[in-house]
Amino acid sequence: MNVDLHSHSTVSDGWLDPRALVQRAAVNGVDLMALTDHDEVGGIDVAAEAAAEMGVGLVPGVEISVSFAGETVHIVGLGIDHRCPTLVDALAELRAGRDARAQRMSDELARCGIAGAYEGARRFARNPELVSRAHFARHLVASGVMPDVKTVFDHYLARGKPGFVAHQWAALVDAVSWIRAAGGIAVVAHPARYRLSGADMARLFDEFIAAGGEAVEVVSGAHTADEMRRFATVARQRGLLASRASDFHGEKESTVDIGRCNPLPADLTPVWSRLI
Ligand code: AMP
Ligand code: MN
Ligand code: MN
Ligand code: MN
Repeated sequence: MNVDLHSHSTVSDGWLDPRALVQRAAVNGVDLMALTDHDEVGGIDVAAEAAAEMGVGLVPGVEISVSFAGETVHIVGLGIDHRCPTLVDALAELRAGRDARAQRMSDELARCGIAGAYEGARRFARNPELVSRAHFARHLVASGVMPDVKTVFDHYLARGKPGFVAHQWAALVDAVSWIRAAGGIAVVAHPARYRLSGADMARLFDEFIAAGGEAVEVVSGAHTADEMRRFATVARQRGLLASRASDFHGEKESTVDIGRCNPLPADLTPVWSRLI
């Protein structure tokens, strides 16, 4: 079975609207996919309708932004009831901080001689409540400031760079509890991407599991083969379910297309055993 449990639409910072994203998954032979927009579930109804028409299984999902040990960590929720008021209200509150953050990012970029980035980023954001750093990056590429999105992050938007603004996202235990309140399974997204010490990474998994988190992305579009093996070991040692996840945003920005990740190591328990 071709399973891909992490992807983005125009409801957050993907390039394809939910219907077009599902269409692409269908063309790529995906049997089961999750739409996991950042801090937002507004695309799920359209995606589910399209998925039913196209014969693709659709897992309702979300990717929640969390602050942990000075780093931003992403917790994916799978199999959620996307109408659960606890979850819906918490996500609305989380999104509400994004506009002021975007204004501050724009102010920081202006200090570097880049004017008008707020308006520019907003033009790339289909959802006005969800302006992400990816939209700033696209604007800076489109206006010729930088050659590509990755270079914008390396120069301006990554933590420690001049356009980065520290932001308080959700607490780890809260994100896991909202997902569980909505009947979902919490998953640590792309763990190899976090700049955490070994001790902080161990504490991330300790606190995630203590809060009721159950799975980790072992195969991710953001992982190398070595990183995949590292987190396969974490899944085994901690008894976590394993996910397979492209984190597809669009063909221009993603190295792995939807449904085109490597297989999970055969001895791990796939998280989708609990979703089908
Ligand atoms: P935000 O939630 O506004 O902090 O934006 C995070 C998003 O920015 C991620 O989900 C990615 O889409 C994108 N992103 C973060 N780091 C990078 C990077 N190094 N290269 C390309 N895109 C990135
Ligand atoms: Mn993103
Ligand atoms: Mn992420
Ligand atoms: Mn993602």
